[in-house]
Amino acid sequence: MQTASVRRRRRGFLAAIALGAFGCVPMQQPATDVPRGTAWMDATATLDPATTPVYEGDAPMTFAFLKDMRRGDALTLSSYAMGAHSGTHIDAPMHFVPGGASIDKVPLDPLIGPARVIDIADGVQAIDAAELERHRWRGTPRVLFRTRSSLRRWMSSSTFHRDFAFVSADAAQLLADAGVVLVGIDYISAEQFGAPVPRAHQILLGKGIPIVEGLLLEQVPAGEYDLIVLPIKVAGHEGAPARAVVRRRAP
Ligand SMILES: [Zn+2]
Repeated sequence: MQTASVRRRRRGFLAAIALGAFGCVPMQQPATDVPRGTAWMDATATLDPATTPVYEGDAPMTFAFLKDMRRGDALTLSSYAMGAHSGTHIDAPMHFVPGGASIDKVPLDPLIGPARVIDIADGVQAIDAAELERHRWRGTPRVLFRTRSSLRRWMSSSTFHRDFAFVSADAAQLLADAGVVLVGIDYISAEQFGAPVPRAHQILLGKGIPIVEGLLLEQVPAGEYDLIVLPIKVAGHEGAPARAVVRRRAP
């Protein structure tokens, strides 16, 4: 039996043949026109031992091909091993909160929705409450910081830098108290390097606010976006690499 849609497709096909006979088949148009500036952009650092920074003391990245068609094998088969906090990744509450949710139990809603990218000047290392209040950050549920790490392209270099910009405890408290549901930053930690107590993590994760670290924001200007950032689903672990994409929102 022929359905209406099959009949429609067939009529379209015949119309294309007819046009083709005149040598003027139009170029195939995409189903929906995506206006400039509203396409999805990748905000994920590529996992690559050559370009991915590894936090001092964290597990090394090991990428290997067990079989490789380029070397004459019948198939290509590889493995990769890395720390749970490699590249663009999400910290689950379990990372610093006793009894906190593991990455597979983090709710989806904070990970998908409107977000604001905020520019932090190159000279600023501590994003504290005073720095935060210099910016228009209220009124968005998700705050992503674009810092010196983006300006210096540190998420694209395997060299680990200690002097990355971080979220101070008082800023974390402001964000948490304001009802922000997700905080993101553009280097592999949101905490000051060597901080004796991970207060920013404790405050945010203590409120169940996932932290996205290692975002690639080099090509993502400050502004309003839709964000989708989804970690791989690993049972009972405290973090996982994620794919993050953003799309400009109408102002
Ligand atoms: Zn982390």
